Amino acid sequence: TTYVNVIGAGLAGSEAAWQLASRGISVRLYEMRPKKLTPAHHTDKFAELVCSNSLRGNSLTNAVGVLKEEMRQLNSVIVSSADACSVPAGGALAVDRHEFAALVTERVKGHERVTVFEEEIEEIPEGPTIIATGPLTSDALSTSLRNLTGEDYLYFYDAAAPIIEVDSIDREKVYLKSRYDKGEAAYLNCPMTEEEFDRFYNALVEAETVPLKEFEKAMFFEGCMPIEVMAKRGRKTMLFGPMKPVGLEDPSTGKRPYAVVQLRQDNSSGTLYNIVGFQTHLKWGPQKDVIRLIPGLENAEIVRYGVMHRNTFINSPNLLHNTYQYKQRNDLFFAGQMTGVEGYVESAASGLTAGINAANIVNHKAPVTFPEETMIGAMAHYITTANPDNFQPINANFGLVPPFPERIKSKKERYEKYAERALTTIQNFVKKM
Ligand code: FAD
Repeated sequence: TTYVNVIGAGLAGSEAAWQLASRGISVRLYEMRPKKLTPAHHTDKFAELVCSNSLRGNSLTNAVGVLKEEMRQLNSVIVSSADACSVPAGGALAVDRHEFAALVTERVKGHERVTVFEEEIEEIPEGPTIIATGPLTSDALSTSLRNLTGEDYLYFYDAAAPIIEVDSIDREKVYLKSRYDKGEAAYLNCPMTEEEFDRFYNALVEAETVPLKEFEKAMFFEGCMPIEVMAKRGRKTMLFGPMKPVGLEDPSTGKRPYAVVQLRQDNSSGTLYNIVGFQTHLKWGPQKDVIRLIPGLENAEIVRYGVMHRNTFINSPNLLHNTYQYKQRNDLFFAGQMTGVEGYVESAASGLTAGINAANIVNHKAPVTFPEETMIGAMAHYITTANPDNFQPINANFGLVPPFPERIKSKKERYEKYAERALTTIQNFVKKM
């Protein structure tokens, strides 16, 4: 009989195995725990939540809430198990992590089509395979992956700068310009006076950072310096780095600001911008306060905070189709955090898609691409079309879906409409699947 190998029984691998098994496909599920643990996992259970016990917002005015609702329509084992093990958490879906992992394990392991192997996979297997080994993929398999992709396309940590919704930028204060007017004007520039810079500088060097985990300590030596570390080297250091004002004179006055923060377009539709050079390890609360001191960003909606993580991920824009298939090998799929989605739910969602598509190819059916109007489809679209030179993982957010032709000013109304459109689209799509 034909079977599909699934490597890793985390959030993505468990969901992928479930989707395959539910479609009548036999699965060989390989999980190295408990024989070998990662630096963040502690148990032998599938879908162990390594940090927070929250699967984040549950309301439909929230992108990850919409994503979960789409997954409910697609018989997700992760979301239905989370629903069954939820604990009170206001508007969020938080779970009893032990009950949750135990339930996912029982359901996936207990499925008659799933055979579990407690072993570490070191080489990429032949035949239909889904690789879902997560941000802490074992060293041996990482080496095989690097041989497959080439070393320029496999990363071991992310150093991501914050990403902002374009509609929340105060366009009166910022101007479009590239340094020395080279090429077309591509950057949004936030100019600062010396006073504004000082205020920003002081807040930045005093803001609280996330404590590093032992296994994360090595990563800064690999080259990408957090903005707050650079700032602490001296008041002027950033002015010769990412905040350099030369060549960025304000076109309306011709004057050079004291300092400039540049924003670069992040997705093809231009709804998202990242802050250039601002990879950071600041805690999210202080990070928001510091960002909002930048002129033009006083009301910035941050869709993705800057983070620095140990994270194994591939350059999906170069390597993957939006079906999560590896471009060079049609029966090889990637899923989970290693594809450049970020978060428990996002990882499970990519596993869900990879599982459906691996089942389809085994059944000689065409793989599916979820519409971009759905959050599950928008994520796949983003990771496979983002700029490959500056690729960083992303959470579910409404900046990823195609905007409406008309501008909807109220954020609440806009999000409600995105949610409504996503859910109608997924319902119609599921009926035809
Ligand atoms: P995982 O859930 O990690 O699953 C991968 C599985 O593969 C593991 O079970 C591992 O043991 C196994 N494996 C690895 N290598 C091999 C091999 N060679 N052979 C066989 N098995 C192998 N996201 C959130 O939404 N909220 C958070 O609070 C959060 N905190 C995080 C904290 C840390 C320290 C890290 C590293 C990540 C965190 N994330 C968080 C991000 C991410 O969503 C989770 O890591 C999520 O578990 C990723 O799902 P996954 O399926 O891709 O990987």
